[in-house]
Amino acid sequence: MHITAAALAEAVHAGERRALARAITLIESTRADHRERAAELLERLMPLTGRSIRIGISGVPGVGKSTFIEALGMHVIDRGHRVAVLAVDPSSALSGGSILGDKTRMEELARRPEAFIRPSPAGGTLGGVARRTREAMLACEAAGFDVIIVETVGVGQSETAVAEMTDLFLLLLLPAGGDELQGIKRGIMELADLVLVNKADGDLAGAARRTVADYRHALHMLRPRSRNWTVPVEACSAHTGAGIPETWETIGRYRETLDASGELAARRAAQARTWMWSETTDNLVAALREHPAVRERLPELEAAVTEGRIPPTLAARRLLAAFLGEEPDSE
Ligand code: GDP
Repeated sequence: MHITAAALAEAVHAGERRALARAITLIESTRADHRERAAELLERLMPLTGRSIRIGISGVPGVGKSTFIEALGMHVIDRGHRVAVLAVDPSSALSGGSILGDKTRMEELARRPEAFIRPSPAGGTLGGVARRTREAMLACEAAGFDVIIVETVGVGQSETAVAEMTDLFLLLLLPAGGDELQGIKRGIMELADLVLVNKADGDLAGAARRTVADYRHALHMLRPRSRNWTVPVEACSAHTGAGIPETWETIGRYRETLDASGELAARRAAQARTWMWSETTDNLVAALREHPAVRERLPELEAAVTEGRIPPTLAARRLLAAFLGEEPDSE
């Protein structure tokens, strides 16, 4: 059945879950006519967005992301919120298998009417997956979800993509004995607004305490992401629920602090501009690749670059010239 973007927007706004699921399916489609309808839908939904807290969560596979999100999700639902959980997992494009999506996850949370869980859109580039997740996030906000959690795995560049679409980036760590820093790259640590060492229970409690101390020390050496916020490092247990209410309090404190300083609004504004430019770049490159004159010259230029006959810089200029309909330069 065909439904207009206007009717779908209305149903999403009314909080109809099936309409929301359908809206996201439309957003995820790569078909040209679907893209057009999705754009109209998003334009209609836009005034209804922006009133949620957007939380990005990352950590290596096995750190306890699903368990933690379920525990935090149930806690915030009990406090009267509605939670949407989305994911950015481009691993399906790289390896053919999804790191986040393969197991049955968050079963208890998934059964709650106050929760909406959507796996990562399948396949494509990180840029494509991120764009679809950003748009899905807006649809969830328009449907009245006021806590949005975007989950990603600690592989590749996906953390940066998630930090660029959320208000708060939460890094989950494992309790590690000694001072080994779990191979977490400095760049990822610098994105964090909140660091939690999960599995602080049973035999792992002592190791978790030491890991907290290690990371407090390590974070001290890093350039802070915000002038107004010192990144907390705490322990929690997604299993026992220890530290979960405190985490939600910390998130609330973070939101108030950055709201008061104007930083939250500034961050979102900067994210919107970054998003606009990445869209522009992607669309421009797609249009360039489709252009008949570019397609005609591409095989020859690619061969010349491959064989080292001309520098890539020159080949790039010639492709651009072909796209713009300019005379090829005589170099
Ligand atoms: P994900 O891959 O990051 O989503 O991790 P999962 O949530 O699937 O958890 C990986 C494993 O760690 C599972 O066996 C969980 O039961 C376990 N786990 C998760 N949280 C905790 C915790 O707080 N304490 C302990 N002891 N185990 C946990």
